[in-house]
Amino acid sequence: MPLRNWHESQHYDHTGDKPCVCCGIPTPLRSERGRPVHKVCAETWTADHTRTEDNA
Ligand SMILES: [Zn+2]
Repeated sequence: MPLRNWHESQHYDHTGDKPCVCCGIPTPLRSERGRPVHKVCAETWTADHTRTEDNA
């Protein structure tokens, strides 16, 4: 599931970097819910949490 319209200008927080919730490396980017996260981290997280066929 691609994040809808992830534009850096739209998700860029000019107030400064904050640690990414996924990898802990500071990033100026924000998720749609306003949490600091890299785009790639968000996409990886989304991919990891949308595989419902693995129900081990
Ligand atoms: Zn990250």
